[in-house]
Amino acid sequence: MTLTAGLASRLREILPADRVIDDPTTLIPYAYDASFWSLRSRRMPDVVVLPETTAEVSGVVRAAATSGTPVVARGGGTGQTGGAVPARGGIVISFARMRRVLEIDRTNLQCLTEPGIVYVDLNAALAPHGLFFPPDPGSGRACSVGGMVANNASGPHAVRWGTTSAYVLGAEVVLADGSVIVTGGQRSKALKSSSGIDLTKLFVGSEGTLGIITRLRLRVQPRPAARAVILAAYDDLAGTVATMDDLFAAGILPATAELLDQSAVKALMAWKPDLALPDGEAVLFIEIEGGKGEIAASAREAEKIVQRRARLTRLAEDEAAIQRLWAARAGLAAASALVFPGKHRVFAGEDLAVPISEIPRTVRRAREIAAETGITVIFYGHFGDGNVHSGILIDPSDPDEVNRADDLADRLHRLAIEVGGTVTGEHGTGAVRSRYMRAEHGDALDVMRRVKAALDPQGIMNPGKLYGDEV
Ligand SMILES: Cc1cc2nc3c(=O)[nH]c(=O)nc-3n(C[C@H](O)[C@H](O)[C@H](O)COP(=O)(O)OP(=O)(O)OC[C@H]3O[C@@H](n4cnc5c(N)ncnc54)[C@H](O)[C@@H]3O)c2cc1C
Repeated sequence: MTLTAGLASRLREILPADRVIDDPTTLIPYAYDASFWSLRSRRMPDVVVLPETTAEVSGVVRAAATSGTPVVARGGGTGQTGGAVPARGGIVISFARMRRVLEIDRTNLQCLTEPGIVYVDLNAALAPHGLFFPPDPGSGRACSVGGMVANNASGPHAVRWGTTSAYVLGAEVVLADGSVIVTGGQRSKALKSSSGIDLTKLFVGSEGTLGIITRLRLRVQPRPAARAVILAAYDDLAGTVATMDDLFAAGILPATAELLDQSAVKALMAWKPDLALPDGEAVLFIEIEGGKGEIAASAREAEKIVQRRARLTRLAEDEAAIQRLWAARAGLAAASALVFPGKHRVFAGEDLAVPISEIPRTVRRAREIAAETGITVIFYGHFGDGNVHSGILIDPSDPDEVNRADDLADRLHRLAIEVGGTVTGEHGTGAVRSRYMRAEHGDALDVMRRVKAALDPQGIMNPGKLYGDEV
């Protein structure tokens, strides 16, 4: 019996046979996520399991610990950093069958859910209660809530509502020896706590390297009744920073402030000319939220402030017009592939986050680096929290172009650190950004490694990610 066949048969003692996959063809999709890294060299799992209960997850991890086999959790597989890819083989635990919402408690503003649920499905379950789970990644139709917690994901609305981390009240976690703990209090439904070390936060953003999440208690919020979007065009990127500062000075925190650099406006206009986006160095979509009775006045007050710096503004107040704008923004990646035939969008160096005040300098320097490497890039992002996305467009079959894209991505990561930012605002470290951890975190990386060694002494939980290793 081969090593893999032996492992699979041990796992079939824990789960029904049809939820243990080891035939090589069916394993192939689990060798990839959305990262360019995973597309370039396949890293196959030995076995994939699809548990339905915490006990099954615990049994699988216990078996892995006994044999020293790597274990990698997988949600929707939409990650852009190779996080769910088994860099060193082993067992992939797919959460595709752990998608139940176990409780929705409006009075106490929380829900209890399994981690495999897709983001939009959780919000669909919350909607009839007038509630929502605010972090809104662009991949919300495909990514799992467990993956969001593991990566501390977010999206446009993080400006006002914060990132996933702010909403995790507690988690059930299977540790590297297969034991199960509950963080945030065994039975607590309190919305805040000063009790003990905040272990919940330790697992948020740890990308499955410290433990595997099998249940989540999430804070949820009443959905705002109304919204409006101000579209603002700027001749100079500096004006966008001044607008944010003006709004803050007036006591206004927008729900979103999305940036479209001139390159992104051009791509969108080639795709959807009816959007009639104005020219300029940049365009912002600024969303204001509020009650039905006040939204018109709030939006107009904010628009007046925006007009101080913007060359032109447009106000979208009806829901259909707002949804058209957001749908166009969401389609940006698709648009770029249409505008540059033969090029593909690859996810590398795509998630810098810098101080708001440094966005103009960062975008301009990034444009220069793109020109120096001869690579086509569109820039956009969540301006209101400094998250700059770079959409790199290349022909992946051209080795020279791939090399230049690697150089570009590397220089963008270093640029983020240089201007006082981070190499990843929301997509995580995974395999691809591990090499920047020392430069960004200094000696704090050693403390992360000590935490890892304490919780996972054998190094079986998602090895090759996050702690400065090169894979
Ligand atoms: C087109 C596109 C747009 C995107 N837009 C955004 C965006 O706007 N904002 C954003 O933040 N991200 C975005 N992403 C990136 C990605 O969708 C997020 O990082 C998301 O949180 C990943 O969720 P997932 O379920 O797909 O996780 P996966 O890719 O399956 O896994 C991601 C990481 O989470 C770990 N993990 C998964 N489940 C568990 C679990 N139960 N316990 C422990 N660890 C676990 C995995 O091991 C891995 O390290 C985008 C991706 C794409 C392809």
